[in-house]
Amino acid sequence: MKVVEKVAQLREARAQLREPTGLVPTMGFLHDGHMALVRAARAQNASVTATIFVNPKQFGPSEDLSSYPRDLDRDLALLDGAGADLVFVPTVEEIYPAGFSTLVDVGPIGDILEGARRPGHFRGVATVVARLFALCQPRRAYFGQKDAQQCVVIKKMAEEIGFPIEIVVIPIVREPDGLALSSRNVYLTPEQRVAARVLSASLWAASQGYERGERDANRLRAQIRELVQREPLASLDYVSVSDAATLEELDRVDRPALVSLAARVGRARLIDNTLLG
Ligand code: AMP
Repeated sequence: MKVVEKVAQLREARAQLREPTGLVPTMGFLHDGHMALVRAARAQNASVTATIFVNPKQFGPSEDLSSYPRDLDRDLALLDGAGADLVFVPTVEEIYPAGFSTLVDVGPIGDILEGARRPGHFRGVATVVARLFALCQPRRAYFGQKDAQQCVVIKKMAEEIGFPIEIVVIPIVREPDGLALSSRNVYLTPEQRVAARVLSASLWAASQGYERGERDANRLRAQIRELVQREPLASLDYVSVSDAATLEELDRVDRPALVSLAARVGRARLIDNTLLG
């Protein structure tokens, strides 16, 4: 496995990779959710490129950029073990050299849900992913359903710009008690870790409601709100029941829908989601 930090080294190493190549972009502090993406990329391509870059452009001024967890040695060992061929670990200056000013904006779909709470987040995401796509030139790129809106935004960006890249979405990997794996789970104290189960538990309850025939989106939202409010260590940011393709809020669940939520537990802001229909 080759590890490179510079764009020039990346171009050179990229040219040596066997085709097709699969790309797994990450912010590091890898867990089994990330590794599921690497495994899928390994299975479907002749070579695998992973990137580790904590992208300042997708963090708001009051967010956790400076404290975001990092462990490069451990990440590289995991990637090596999973059969990655090339890992790009750029500095901020390498991705955004002095004077860098190009931004990729996907429009209104980046301004709702997570984008409404994190202004500029998806512009930062789309910008760095477009740059990584151009530099790494993968045939396929792998993203987790955990960040459902990110998947919608990246698919739209790739299609509209015209990257000849298939976007592959991998299901959410969870702890045995249902908590979605996240690098930010490390922020949780043991007590908060137990409380954090309420995110997936409330989504599961809503799924069950849907399976029993509930189609009123407001009642599904209310059910989730009530369950999260019963957990004193969790504070709900939002709950949404939206069209799975357009992310528009629904009154009735009469088409494939995304139920998504964000909640604060201690200093961690956690997100989770599930699909209905
Ligand atoms: P991050 O390092 O948090 O930017 O995540 C890198 C990629 O891993 C993104 O495409 C995420 O959606 C994906 N990912 C993160 N957590 C999970 C999870 N629990 N299950 C599946 N994919 C995940």
